[in-house]
Amino acid sequence: MRNNTLTQPHASLHAAAPPGPPVEISVVIPIYNEEENIPLLHPRLRETMERLGRSYEVILIDDGSSDRSAELISGLMAHDPRLRLIEFNRNYGQHAAVFAGFEHARGMVIVTLDADLQNPPEEIPKLIAKIDEGYDIVGGMRGKRRDSVFRKIPSWLVNRFISRATGVSLRDYGCMLRAYHRTVVDQIVRCNEISSFIPTLANSFARSVTEIEVAHAERKRGKSKYNLRRLLKLNFDLVTGFSLFPIQLISGLGILIALLGIGFGIMLMVLRFVYGAVWAAQGVFTLFALLFVFVGIQLLAMGLIGEYIGRIYSEVRNRPRYVIKKISS
Ligand code: UDP
Ligand code: MG
Repeated sequence: MRNNTLTQPHASLHAAAPPGPPVEISVVIPIYNEEENIPLLHPRLRETMERLGRSYEVILIDDGSSDRSAELISGLMAHDPRLRLIEFNRNYGQHAAVFAGFEHARGMVIVTLDADLQNPPEEIPKLIAKIDEGYDIVGGMRGKRRDSVFRKIPSWLVNRFISRATGVSLRDYGCMLRAYHRTVVDQIVRCNEISSFIPTLANSFARSVTEIEVAHAERKRGKSKYNLRRLLKLNFDLVTGFSLFPIQLISGLGILIALLGIGFGIMLMVLRFVYGAVWAAQGVFTLFALLFVFVGIQLLAMGLIGEYIGRIYSEVRNRPRYVIKKISS
């Protein structure tokens, strides 16, 4: 495993890195209507980072908040030169925000953190320590997760699924408290697909990935930005964006059903020869039931194909992932 030395001047390593003095650590935080959390987050993060004793910057991405989030951050920037603010012109979603943060990060190590204090910033040094050991990506794993069962069950399924689809087995893909080595982030920045899920994308470029347990708290202030609809969309993105498995599964099912149909036909024919025409008229309702099942599967298959085509369409249009209104640092 490579030894990730943090002290290397990063300009020489990465020509594409944005101008400005290199730092050792960049903390990237997406913000969407978090006015209640920002005043609490800032001192805790600052203290943790100061104690770590390495040069750092904090990149806050305001994802089109409609509350006073951006204003609050600008206020804090007057006293803290390490803060940088990127403002989107409207809401593009958490992953687009993190992407923007990656594009502007100058650190050798990039840490992502949610603004809602569910993942305590005090855990950052643990992640950094693992990166120092030589890992490319260190994922946080929410030890005792404080969310409702309605969040946990889909998460469990998705974690299993992505682990299989990507071949990198992690227990918690949903945790956004993560650290990445510069080399991984550089690759992510070069990807220009539109709907992306950062932890999965990152794993496809990493040499060594590890996971450590981090604390998890309830969201005390502000609301979760993910309702059921957004969660479904995210999971659909994830599943279709990173594998062809769903569509392959449907094809397999199709073959199986066709075989069953042929078997069924042969069976009916035999019965007709043995028992005569009377038997064939029965079981109409059973047939209806079978029909509904097959029609259902067909529609599902069409929907899935549509999903892939839709994705191809949006990639082909190649529209910008987000529009930045203003950058201040
Ligand atoms: N977030 C964002 N844009 C969005 C939704 C969320 O930047 O459209 C940010 C949000 O401010 C928070 C993080 O992403 O810092 C995680 O959001 P949230 O806590 O609502 O998600 P959950 O913890 O419920 O998964
Ligand atoms: Mg949260």
